[in-house]
Amino acid sequence: MPELPEVETVRRGLEPYVTGAHIDTVALKRKDLRFPFPEGFASALEGATIESTSRRAKYLLFRLSTGKTWLSHLGMTGTWRFEDFKFQDLKVGEPSRYYEPTEDRKHDHLIVELTHPEHGAMKLIYNDARRFGFMELFGDDAESAYLSELGPEPLSNAFNAAEMAERFKGKKAPMKAALLDQKVVAGLGNIYVSEALHRAHIRPDISAATLVLKSGAPSKRLEDLAEGVRTVLIEAIDAGGSTLRDFRAADGNSGYFQHRFAVYDREGEPCPTPRCKGVIKRIVQSGRSSFFCPVCQH
Ligand SMILES: [Zn+2]
Repeated sequence: MPELPEVETVRRGLEPYVTGAHIDTVALKRKDLRFPFPEGFASALEGATIESTSRRAKYLLFRLSTGKTWLSHLGMTGTWRFEDFKFQDLKVGEPSRYYEPTEDRKHDHLIVELTHPEHGAMKLIYNDARRFGFMELFGDDAESAYLSELGPEPLSNAFNAAEMAERFKGKKAPMKAALLDQKVVAGLGNIYVSEALHRAHIRPDISAATLVLKSGAPSKRLEDLAEGVRTVLIEAIDAGGSTLRDFRAADGNSGYFQHRFAVYDREGEPCPTPRCKGVIKRIVQSGRSSFFCPVCQH
């Protein structure tokens, strides 16, 4: 499932080609993905210009000249790709490359014809085999049920140890669950929670409250964790980005899978922390795997 860095990688792939583009036609191949498309979705998009392409947590946001925002969530297998473009110089390549490119057109659910002032006409296609993705249209962020409840964006100044201490105070829930709570930090999923906890040398199964001092201030370890979250996300975005640029010469593998994780999905392998002799362990928390090093995460 794409997490924040993968969605940001997609956004960076789309941005140069869709920002400034005019939406000529929108063809829906079905009425729903995970949820039904909003009423009048296609006609609300047609004729609009995409003024900006941004991201909040794992949501892609296309701000339109009509004042509406078009939201896209990729679910498990959602991808965006370009077809029928005339431009030769794909500066950052196709947007969906963190995910294996699909040839299966029966899962193409939305086809958007765009004209960009510089790049000309192109088709932007949404493909989603498992259909856990969804789309929405809204006037401002407060209007979107998906965005209005979100906690701070982890790469913004709003996310910091003091803010986390506020949320973790008195929380008996294990670290991992506390970090997966989208009100604490928006956009973290199973993979990068494991990675951030390893980076900060914190076990996923201790209670969140143990990282808050009696005064309510964040402990040094909570500060390390806030830093760890930011670092693993930035490194993953950078890895996706560099794989993006190299893609055409590469073997077709995606940035997502080429990115090397320290603990995620590495059960039984040696811990990459310098001088640590630990072996990565897997435990199941709330039905999902957590990976950690029992030696350097304590
Ligand atoms: Zn270790």
